[in-house]
Amino acid sequence: MSKPELLAPAGDLVRMKYAFAYGADAVYAGQPAFSLRARENGFKNLDDLAQGIAYAHEHGKKFYLTSNVIPRNVKVESFKRALNEALELKPDALIVADPGFVGWLLKDHPETEVHLSVQANTTNYLAASFWKNLGVRRIILSRELRLSEILEIKKNVPDLELEVFVHGAVCMAMSGRCMLSNWVTHRDANQGACDNSCRMPYRLYANSGPQVEDYREHEGSFSLQRTDRPELDPIALDEDMWGTYFMSSRDLCALDVIPELVAGGLDSFKIEGRTRSVYYLSQVVRAYRMAIDAVVEGKPVPEESRRAISFVDGRGFMPGFLRGPLPQNYEATHVDAEGGCVAAQIKDFDETTGACLVNVKNPFSMDDSLELMTPDGMLPCEVEELMDFRGAAADKLNPGTEGRVFLSKNDFKNGKNAKFGFFVKKAKS
Ligand code: SF4
Repeated sequence: MSKPELLAPAGDLVRMKYAFAYGADAVYAGQPAFSLRARENGFKNLDDLAQGIAYAHEHGKKFYLTSNVIPRNVKVESFKRALNEALELKPDALIVADPGFVGWLLKDHPETEVHLSVQANTTNYLAASFWKNLGVRRIILSRELRLSEILEIKKNVPDLELEVFVHGAVCMAMSGRCMLSNWVTHRDANQGACDNSCRMPYRLYANSGPQVEDYREHEGSFSLQRTDRPELDPIALDEDMWGTYFMSSRDLCALDVIPELVAGGLDSFKIEGRTRSVYYLSQVVRAYRMAIDAVVEGKPVPEESRRAISFVDGRGFMPGFLRGPLPQNYEATHVDAEGGCVAAQIKDFDETTGACLVNVKNPFSMDDSLELMTPDGMLPCEVEELMDFRGAAADKLNPGTEGRVFLSKNDFKNGKNAKFGFFVKKAKS
């Protein structure tokens, strides 16, 4: 069984280094003006890109430059100039969505490996074959495909590299397509059956029954009902303290599908989330690294992979479309990590004293059950002493501050691998 690539997002150089430390084979990153991550993007200039590409190559990893903006006429020449400059840095591939730019790259830069972005919406083997014959090396498949469809594409175009999303946030529009009609009426706008759900009138009902004229006079949860199609199931509008999330999808988690994706010969497993925290990225990369390694050795997805995912926040998880028809999952709200949360990120450690200098992310005290997470795994640890940012002994450290965590000597033997380490606070049962 060949080992697929684990591809992680790199929102900046720091995230890239953590992704590699925790087991990613490759990262994707792009310039703010030409990738679909204009804000909160740490690769602001060519120097950032040069550093990222050099670091990746020094560590035997790959760096894919995401250039998947859909440019209007006015952007064409500046986009070409930007790509000409970026290509000098020798990224391992360019991720492109616009067919004009795919053609331009293949003609003017034939040495460049082109990956077709998910934004190009490839959903069948004929389209995949078309792109392959044009010279595209890899296709990032649309997120609304089922596992059986993905495997069929691979079978029909075996020499084309296929990349699939395995983890992360999913928007209502999936791969840039409207899913509203699909969700409300099970009629797929992308197959010509749009029900115009966005244009129809809706009424607000209290879940206890009556139609609501003024929601401020009601307590409890509400639902929306199409006035022209009363036979349709109402759309729940559950509220938490922030409001309702009726167009928010649960997050994709394909851990349980990894064995079939590996057996089917898929080439690259992609994690979403260039703006996610360093801690989130580290846990998720760790989860999929362990899963891929185990499955390739003929073992099941390890429990530790699931435990890693239980340590990150999300919106609740689902296997997306991989396991079948449209999941009814658009009422997802924020879900705290079940297993626990990050307590602190290790900035530095002193081998002689056993002291870890930390950035505190969530409050923790001497009474909390902590584990030390490093690229080698998660280890129980015993804290001997905490010290606050003033250097005073403390029972508790608070978020937004620096502090010191002193581990027992025994634990510290493990702590020597803590360069990319975190303290994780286990949830109290
Ligand atoms: S008409 Fe409305 S529901 Fe249909 S595809 Fe367009 S935005 Fe989506």
